[in-house]
Amino acid sequence: MCKKTFYPPTLLKVTMNAKRLAMYPFLRESSEYIEEKNISLEELINGLAFEECRIIGKRRVLEAIEAGVITDHEMGTEITCLKEILSYPIARILVSCVGDPYLIRRYALAEAVKANHRLQNENLDFILHLAEQFNIGVNKYEDGVKIHFSDFLQNTAQLRSREWKLINQELDSGYVILNKRKLIRIVQQAIQKRIEDELPLPINDDIIRAFKQSVIEIEEEIKKKKHKFESTDIGKIRITRLPPCMKHLLSMAQNGENISHSGRFALTSFLNAVNLSPEDIIKIFSTSPDFDESKTRYQIEHITGGISGTEYTPPECSTMKSYNLCIGADELCNKEWMKHPLTYYRLKGRKRIKGRKKKS
Ligand code: SF4
Repeated sequence: MCKKTFYPPTLLKVTMNAKRLAMYPFLRESSEYIEEKNISLEELINGLAFEECRIIGKRRVLEAIEAGVITDHEMGTEITCLKEILSYPIARILVSCVGDPYLIRRYALAEAVKANHRLQNENLDFILHLAEQFNIGVNKYEDGVKIHFSDFLQNTAQLRSREWKLINQELDSGYVILNKRKLIRIVQQAIQKRIEDELPLPINDDIIRAFKQSVIEIEEEIKKKKHKFESTDIGKIRITRLPPCMKHLLSMAQNGENISHSGRFALTSFLNAVNLSPEDIIKIFSTSPDFDESKTRYQIEHITGGISGTEYTPPECSTMKSYNLCIGADELCNKEWMKHPLTYYRLKGRKRIKGRKKKS
């Protein structure tokens, strides 16, 4: 492993103030700031003075569920900044009380995407400071940075698009040269991973009691979100007919989660095989944090035959299994003769039509 380069704070021109801490509440300095204020957990979860922090914390979680991104709040004074900083541990407590893996992923992604948006307006020194806190070793290099190729691979393992393949990078003596935008994207990934890894926090009965009402509200929102996904058909496709593997990939795409190259191929070729138009397929991938319409269009048109003239068939169950894409197999999947996700889809369609005939 290469030697990581972290810059001592004195070498980086980084100014920390309450607003910055509020904008990046996961920073080490934000936790230190809360410690300096001597606010106890008991006060935070029950104190009248912190009621607004709890409201903002809950809003953070609800926004993550509903829109997948956290909106900007008032940060004009030190008091409003402190409320914002404290709303972050509250949000983490709430997510932990619910303990739903879907919520953890969605919340971590929303916080990380928010940080990405904010980092676009920061100088390189501040971004390097943040990278250091997330253990990303980078050196300044001309207008951007360079990162050792092994660190690059480690930090981009979840970024599946062609843009992030090592062969498509500018290399210099074993180092990958990155511009500011790419460095921010790597930092976003590291923020998301750390938040996901840290949650759920250990929660005791007193905390659960204190947040009972908020937890009910959040669980309701998750239920609504999941139900909306389950019942919203796309184009001519009935979601209820989809095999579990495709439902899983589709929900990942709609939640803006990164899907492996093989997963994108499987989903696109499957949706094409059941006659979803390339336009509708593009819409499905449009919520991805890395969505690039022209690249997505190219990939989809390649798989669906628009460019290559070859229409790819979706992978069969054995291939899906070998790529770890066979997720949530149900009773129908477990039938010995079930060999292909399309068989599942067609069979479900027939059953549904038969059921309808019986009723009439
Ligand atoms: S068995 Fe086949 S259809 Fe069922 S989830 Fe696995 S890959 Fe999909």
